[in-house]
Amino acid sequence: MELKIFKFGGASVESPARVRNVVQLVATHFQTNSPNPKLVIVVSAMGKMTNAFEVLLEACWHNKPTQEAWQHIYQYHQGQAEALFTSSEGIHSQLAHYYREIQALAADIHQYQVYDQAYDALVSYGELLSTTMLAAALQQAGLPVVWMDARQLIRTDHTWREGKVIWDTTQAQICAALTPPLTEGHLVLTQGFLGGTPDGHTTTLGREGSDFTGAILAHCLDAQSLTIWKDVPGVLNADPKRVAHTTLYERLSYRESAEMSTYGASVIHPKTIKPLVEKQIPLFVRSFINPEAAGTRIAEEPSDKQVPNIIFKDNQVVIHIQSDSFALMNSKLLSTILQACEEANLAVNFIQTFATQLAIATNPHQSRLEQVQVLLQKAGFTVKCTTGLQLITLQRYNDDTLSTILAGRKPYLLQRSEALCQLLV
Ligand code: ASP
Ligand code: MG
Repeated sequence: MELKIFKFGGASVESPARVRNVVQLVATHFQTNSPNPKLVIVVSAMGKMTNAFEVLLEACWHNKPTQEAWQHIYQYHQGQAEALFTSSEGIHSQLAHYYREIQALAADIHQYQVYDQAYDALVSYGELLSTTMLAAALQQAGLPVVWMDARQLIRTDHTWREGKVIWDTTQAQICAALTPPLTEGHLVLTQGFLGGTPDGHTTTLGREGSDFTGAILAHCLDAQSLTIWKDVPGVLNADPKRVAHTTLYERLSYRESAEMSTYGASVIHPKTIKPLVEKQIPLFVRSFINPEAAGTRIAEEPSDKQVPNIIFKDNQVVIHIQSDSFALMNSKLLSTILQACEEANLAVNFIQTFATQLAIATNPHQSRLEQVQVLLQKAGFTVKCTTGLQLITLQRYNDDTLSTILAGRKPYLLQRSEALCQLLV
């Protein structure tokens, strides 16, 4: 099937003008490929609404006033809806229905005992609202769009906030649900980031996980390509907000892009590449502001530029681990430590071993950090954490790149080989 997957992130639908721009982009695709458009559209929560839902959850979970957090979410979506639709359109009652559900859930959040499960139940409304609104906007433009609930397509286990995909069921559900409407010439629209457990609970796939949803759909449907539409021209060798001169890749290898995103390049989610490689499906990263431009094509072939990549990962916590009995860092101790990280689901972004110590840089995930600390203390280690560090990774670098980045600063930790340099500052 000559099928394409388009993924639109929060920024692409953050204002009424941006929503209209997405409608225009989809309409162009539809006209060019009619009567068989074969397109699946994956959408994130609008603007910064996932953060706004996190704020609401924090408030209700800790029994604090929720009015301000709720009003922010409500006013924002209402602002979008009032600008895009006339008051008589049916969308308003659909939105009102979600608003009531969100308020009821916020008022009764302690029906969940586990914070991370409550997170998935509440934060998922960001995507439900955005896709409901975008579906209405596409219908208004006369496009034959079918809205689908991703929680019934993407089957995951019960790992809240980072659902692990159960591939065989997911594959079967996606094919069964999407093949008929696609064959009949409909456009299918669904939520990024969301999944569902076998017993019907909502899960999420990790922050910024909508790209991964796009890749899952592409994989399961054997799509021709996945396109991630962004507010940047494509994949650059560094974040233009932090580095003065950047270079755009026209072509990038799967491996290089997977490495870049794992080190922290936010342009694509790290889990996106693997499902695509397995089916050799190319990934395009293109600008929704300038949709005529080709952007970056990510596939098996080598990258077209040989420039240094400079990748930043903020808000890192360094855990210093030392054995209480002065034991040396042998493979047995190392495996105990890494197993504790695995058990607590804690990411290891950087690791450096010393004779009697080990340093790991990880993300500031409070409950997982606490769990690791408990596990390691039980196993006879002393654990100390340092917060607020930035991890910088340099690929294809030279001494000039390194000294520009350091700019006279002394790194807190540094590790380098010919191909790769990682430092914490
Ligand atoms: N809305 C989710 C987030 O902001 C998922 C995504 O945007 O990819 O993390
Ligand atoms: Mg987002």
